[in-house]
Amino acid sequence: MSNLSPLLQQATGVTAERGEGLYIVDVEGRRYLDFTAGIGVTSTGHCHPHVVDAIREQAGKLIHGQYTTVLHRPLELLAERLSAVSPDHLNSVFFANSGSEAVEAALRLARHATGRPNIIAFHGGFHGRTMGAAALTTSKVAIRAGLQPLMGGVVVAPFPHASRYGWSEEEAVRFCLDELDYLFATVTDPRETAALIIEPVLGEGGYVPTPAAFAVGLKERCERFGMLFIADEVQTGVGRTGRFWGHEHLGVEPDIMIVAKGLASGMPLSAMVAPKELMERAWTGSQGGTYGGNALSCAAALATLDVIEQESLVANADVQGTEMLKGLRVLAAGNPRIGGVRGLGLMLAVEVVDTDGNPDAKATKQLQAGAVGEGLLLLTCGAYGNVVRFIPPLIVQSAEIKDGLERFGRALQQI
Ligand code: PMP
Repeated sequence: MSNLSPLLQQATGVTAERGEGLYIVDVEGRRYLDFTAGIGVTSTGHCHPHVVDAIREQAGKLIHGQYTTVLHRPLELLAERLSAVSPDHLNSVFFANSGSEAVEAALRLARHATGRPNIIAFHGGFHGRTMGAAALTTSKVAIRAGLQPLMGGVVVAPFPHASRYGWSEEEAVRFCLDELDYLFATVTDPRETAALIIEPVLGEGGYVPTPAAFAVGLKERCERFGMLFIADEVQTGVGRTGRFWGHEHLGVEPDIMIVAKGLASGMPLSAMVAPKELMERAWTGSQGGTYGGNALSCAAALATLDVIEQESLVANADVQGTEMLKGLRVLAAGNPRIGGVRGLGLMLAVEVVDTDGNPDAKATKQLQAGAVGEGLLLLTCGAYGNVVRFIPPLIVQSAEIKDGLERFGRALQQI
């Protein structure tokens, strides 16, 4: 009998013994090509030697130096490095441990700095499981079910998921911007709206890229009404989409950016990055925490940023992502059970449908299990559980993309 909580269900049935680059090796010695990367976390692959060395070296010097008690070098250096790779005005960093915590910090900052209560989130977005972040999350009802009422002051606006509406992207964007204006006229006065929060690509909600025209419309309204634009880059950041930041695809820069997952190659670390003047408008005592900016995590993040730069992993994500997208489209063309292929860089997904074209969660589970049988680890997402996602580490090369596609193709034949 396992003593682990029964509510934590593993998607693959694999018990990992170790990780090596693109592979997970289980306790029986079986090797799996890992196209999950720990939900988009192990950006440099499992146990990259440079990251391992940095963690080992730091562990011999200082493991924990609680940041409201003392400063330490990895903390200061990482704040500097993270500002340097962020848009110029995002020059002040608050560190925490998880994506949810950084989202909570952004909520506190937005409310404090604007003096306004309301936050707009977009339908299908995922921002975390803590109660404030869960109030912004509408990717799947299970995150909210049985827990409501959640934090007040959250208004959910439609997201331009064109294929779901059965419209062109242009029509979906126009509709969603009109609906947002209608919300301003009927639900939340812009004067009491602190911020809006959006993922550059809907992640848990189904890997749907945010149309650039929508982001431009949002930014224009933020500027007009003095609201803050918060980009939740937890899943899209640090090279995942083939650009360093997901918002680079949108042609707008956020006022607050939330970073986690791929930042520290698997060590727990998140960050909220904002202009210093904005941080100064928030209230003293509103930021803190015991483990945030942990020394080992910061050392791992510094080494991760080195590897990303030295191995040109952002460009690699773009090149390999383009190749994988092509390969997935070829598989989809010959298979009516794939209803669509989408994504950016190495954040790609296919939608699994039944013979009538409806979402097919059961077949998706079979497909995932079939892939495990073929030695390929994959995750699913989407409101109806029918989206299979492909998020290999950013170090992936052509040979492994080809191998992964072949394994996936064999699993597809089994549904
Ligand atoms: N925001 C986004 C976009 C995410 O994808 C996630 C995690 N899937 C979170 C926030 C929450 O991060 P965490 O699980 O580290 O709390």
